[in-house]
Amino acid sequence: MNRGLTIVTALSAALICAAAAKSTAPVHVPLPRSNPLKTTENENQQDSKPASVLFSEKKLPSLGRAMAIGYYPRGCLQGGVELPTTGPTWQVMRLSRNRNWGHPELVEFIERFAPLAAEATGRKGILIGDMAQPRGGPLPFGHKSHQTGLDVDIWFMPMPDRVLSQEERENIRASNLVAVDGKHVNDEIWSAADVAFIRTAAEQPEVERVLVNAAIKKELCRVEGNNDRSWMSKVRPWYGHDDHMHVRLKCPADSPNCEAQPAVPGGDGCDKSLDHWFADWILRLKIPEFGGSSAGLKLNNLPPACIAVLNAAARPTSATTEERSGLR
Ligand SMILES: [Zn+2]
Repeated sequence: MNRGLTIVTALSAALICAAAAKSTAPVHVPLPRSNPLKTTENENQQDSKPASVLFSEKKLPSLGRAMAIGYYPRGCLQGGVELPTTGPTWQVMRLSRNRNWGHPELVEFIERFAPLAAEATGRKGILIGDMAQPRGGPLPFGHKSHQTGLDVDIWFMPMPDRVLSQEERENIRASNLVAVDGKHVNDEIWSAADVAFIRTAAEQPEVERVLVNAAIKKELCRVEGNNDRSWMSKVRPWYGHDDHMHVRLKCPADSPNCEAQPAVPGGDGCDKSLDHWFADWILRLKIPEFGGSSAGLKLNNLPPACIAVLNAAARPTSATTEERSGLR
């Protein structure tokens, strides 16, 4: 695998960037900090290591009912489920990262959205970038959010009409829809299908936000003109996001400890607030090169329930999931 390419793509791709039983009951696991006299080696290690390292070491989800815990950039995922790596209208990229996990509502969303997007765009399907780690939590590189199993990056590059090899999924570079100046879309590859793609995501009721590069947002404002632009309020500009859109779901009903994001401001976002993104100093910011990571968070920066999730027994990957994935 081309590690350099993968890292570059990871940094540029994400800046901030199955049904399961529904219950509010957390996994009942004794918290290691509950008795100060029982300091263990495990506890000392957990105090010293970044939370991103601890969570990335967990290769399987926790036992327990599915639940998104905490805030998108400061939380974790109990009872995560795996999106099959190959479906009729989707394929997961960068399999080596083991980030195709999410709350069941995210997996169900992707399985439902993929054929809708294919139909709306006339394409074969969608390519899935990062979701969450098996237990969510901070990631060692690439994102601030994606911690609660409710965020997914979906590439603008359409899925090809064949099953990609594992090597291709590691190395293919996502196509950038934004021109070099950062102020316009790249007319050579931008098309009406991209508008339909983003719109289809924004129109799904469980979607909280769709984050795209400001140049893409500006183009949406332009092409939609005097049409009904109510769907565009959820589509918000953010750094990066020139080769994928970031779709974020609302807190699920089964997750009382999931912290909702403030509602999007009213209006379609095609106002002067958009101009800010094209200021020279903003365009010069190379945010992905020095930010966009949650790698520095410690375990005690997360909700206490995340310690239980981290230390919970693993749930083996189900045969059903294996069969559905078709690749592993
Ligand atoms: Zn993202």
